[in-house]
Amino acid sequence: MEPVGADVLIVGAGPVGLFAAFQLGLFGMQCHLIDSLDRPGGQCAMLYADKPIYDVPGLPVIEAALLVEKLQEQIAPFAPGFSFGRTVVEFAADSQFRLTAHDGGFFEAPVIVVATGCGAFDPVSRVKESPLADWGIGFAEGAVPVDTEKFQTCLPGVFAIGDAAGYPGKVPLLLSGFHEAALMTQAVRKMLKPAGRAGVQYTSSSTVLRKRLGV
Ligand SMILES: Cc1cc2nc3c(=O)[nH]c(=O)nc-3n(C[C@H](O)[C@H](O)[C@H](O)COP(=O)(O)OP(=O)(O)OC[C@H]3O[C@@H](n4cnc5c(N)ncnc54)[C@H](O)[C@@H]3O)c2cc1C
Repeated sequence: MEPVGADVLIVGAGPVGLFAAFQLGLFGMQCHLIDSLDRPGGQCAMLYADKPIYDVPGLPVIEAALLVEKLQEQIAPFAPGFSFGRTVVEFAADSQFRLTAHDGGFFEAPVIVVATGCGAFDPVSRVKESPLADWGIGFAEGAVPVDTEKFQTCLPGVFAIGDAAGYPGKVPLLLSGFHEAALMTQAVRKMLKPAGRAGVQYTSSSTVLRKRLGV
């Protein structure tokens, strides 16, 4: 079986994994998201889809299911790949990182983003110890320790964001995860495209970003 390849593999297609695909796509990186669920949205989709959220910046109120829809619409220009119904159970580091799903399928990329939230919703893997415990990234008590500049784990090239990321002062909210995705992206950009243009680029004025967005 041929591995699925991408610039960046995102484990978890919850709200934060989805927004990470947007940020990475904006800066020219092709993503593939893997989720044990049969749909995107993580906790928003599974635990409170019909509930209103009142603390997403600029949106006085939005139903959780609609937020997931909007996040999908936002990443559409970058056409990320998706593998649903696949629980990542193994991790290996060689010249690239390799992830293996519970059904034996595998994925390879030079960068991994852990956006696994509070863990797989799949009832089988929920009763087992988290697969992250064996990755050598310091997973303990439900979170992966990261620095707050790059959101990188102790293993260079492996990042963690959203509810899966642990650091002093961490608040498990959507807006924290979105911020983490943006800073992680800048670190990945420097790693994968070191010759690229440095500094801030605004979607409101950058012709490069707007071209990628198709606007
Ligand atoms: C009832 C409730 C109400 C909330 N209300 C608000 C609110 O009003 N405002 C707010 O800001 N936040 C709220 N939150 C918190 C918010 O939903 C979370 O912070 C957010 O969902 C975290 O997003 P995430 O993408 O990091 O993780 P998640 O949403 O947990 O998504 C992680 C995804 O990773 C997948 N996954 C995990 N492990 C694996 C694996 N090994 N292989 C493959 N896939 C895997 C899971 O299936 C899941 O889809 C609420 C949470 C709950 C439970």
